[in-house]
Amino acid sequence: MDPLTAKVLKPELNPLFLTFETIYRIEFPLYIKEIKFDEEARKVDIFIEYHKKATFPCACGQTGQKIHSRVPRVWRGLDIANCQARLHLEVPRIKCANCGVKTYHAPWAREHSHFSRLFEERALFLAEYMPPSKVALFVGVNESQILRLLEQRGKTPKRLSPKSDEGA
Ligand SMILES: [Zn+2]
Repeated sequence: MDPLTAKVLKPELNPLFLTFETIYRIEFPLYIKEIKFDEEARKVDIFIEYHKKATFPCACGQTGQKIHSRVPRVWRGLDIANCQARLHLEVPRIKCANCGVKTYHAPWAREHSHFSRLFEERALFLAEYMPPSKVALFVGVNESQILRLLEQRGKTPKRLSPKSDEGA
């Protein structure tokens, strides 16, 4: 990212943080550390962080699990003012007394998805009205990613209507 064109927003300076935390259900101990706007590249990067000594619950119900390791991950979020948004987090892996090492499940995305839930909902909505190639173009991802999403959700891709020669 070009430091000359990128604007870095800090939490104490901008109410946008609260808005994004609400939209993406980012709750304690997670918080948005920084948002970077790159006007030229039309990208918004949202960096999510947690306190070093934070503990996390396990899916089995055990609470207060300590962090075992971290895995960097990026999710595509909903576009903001026509800029592609990405959520960044070093996902904590916890060591549960019952289940062993488990990866924390981020609330803004389905498990194993590279998209936020909001992004998926938008893409699925568009896919009801246009073929996957158009959806991909509209939201800025590959057609194969849209096809995979539709398949995961048990949806049938909409086909292009055959071109009519009438009136040509
Ligand atoms: Zn567990």
